[in-house]
Amino acid sequence: MGWDGGLDRRRQVGYIILANGLKGPKSSGTQKYTNRLKQMERETMLPTRGYAALQAGAALEPFTFERRPVGPHEALIRIRYCGICHSDIHQARDEWGGATFPMVPGHEIVGTVVKVGEAVKKVREGEIAGVGCFVDSCRTCASCSQGLEQYCEKGMILTYNGRDKNGEPTYGGYSTQIVVDENYLLQIPKTLALEGTGPLLCAGITTYSPLRHWGVGKGHKLAVVGLGGLGHMAVKIGRALGADVTVLSHSGGKRKEAERLGATEFAETGHKETFTSLARKFDFIIDTVSAPHDFNAYLELLKTDGTLILVGVPDQPMQIGAFGLILQRRRIVGSLIGGIRETQEMLDFCADHGITSDVEVIPMQQVNEAYERVIRGDVRFRFVIDLDSGI
Ligand SMILES: [Zn+2]
Ligand SMILES: [Zn+2]
Repeated sequence: MGWDGGLDRRRQVGYIILANGLKGPKSSGTQKYTNRLKQMERETMLPTRGYAALQAGAALEPFTFERRPVGPHEALIRIRYCGICHSDIHQARDEWGGATFPMVPGHEIVGTVVKVGEAVKKVREGEIAGVGCFVDSCRTCASCSQGLEQYCEKGMILTYNGRDKNGEPTYGGYSTQIVVDENYLLQIPKTLALEGTGPLLCAGITTYSPLRHWGVGKGHKLAVVGLGGLGHMAVKIGRALGADVTVLSHSGGKRKEAERLGATEFAETGHKETFTSLARKFDFIIDTVSAPHDFNAYLELLKTDGTLILVGVPDQPMQIGAFGLILQRRRIVGSLIGGIRETQEMLDFCADHGITSDVEVIPMQQVNEAYERVIRGDVRFRFVIDLDSGI
């Protein structure tokens, strides 16, 4: 059965019911018949196959559920690729609390638009579209009004592990299709290789947004701490913005990769002397590491007025000494993904600079094995699920 086989079947059922109810599409019944058919089509739920964790920590397994019918301002996307983000694993295992199950993870989605509601302007059938970490927000608060939907005062509606405006659970991209409001869709430039584009919608924008917001560019020395899914995007984007990029990694194992990605220097943070030889060298540090580590040591690597940007999420609060900030007027800042407008800007920027994520493409059936490898840090640099290969 094709991805929309169920929809076709229901449409046929609709014809049969209508044919019986209205005694066939003839005379004055024709218009009524067409209208009713359109209405039924709108009301028809869309059977969808995916992979879900049925409870916290359970292995992901095949799961069938229904997407809502495509509304006037919505588009139906046949999902082609979906990246595996580390936060998928945290949430599927309920490591951040409050998770709802069954959970279909996935928020690095690219696919083909196969149906649009009658009022949709942003995308057309046959085009490639993307869906990132959220699918809606309140649209009226101060943050939403500025295009900063990720900081919505009422909370953005997450692509999965959330509740939509009708209170229904949201299901993510480890699935065959998704229905999304056009205002929360991204247009994917044609020149971007599709399999490496999904991760731009989380890892890409997570690093692009703070680098742009704090004005990282030509003449700046930028250090990237950690060379994983986020770090490798930070190197590529930092370089494309014109900064001189140094990778700070625990051991020397990723030196060659760092250079290949565009870093001009590489230093091992496992060596104490790194922190003396690089003292007060950087204008910016973007810290992508989620394991606990000493922020104070990194602060000392910043020049006067330097900025430590946190995008990693250690699960324990960190101790910060005031002197590290005060004596050189340094600052520590944080940043969360990006709004729709900025995410589109990032995609266009990446297309202009030929940037995608470095990925390992896997079939859906290997997702549990991929999770284990992500936890071990054994991936260069992002797993992407190929939904075309079937569920
Ligand atoms: Zn993510
Ligand atoms: Zn809002």
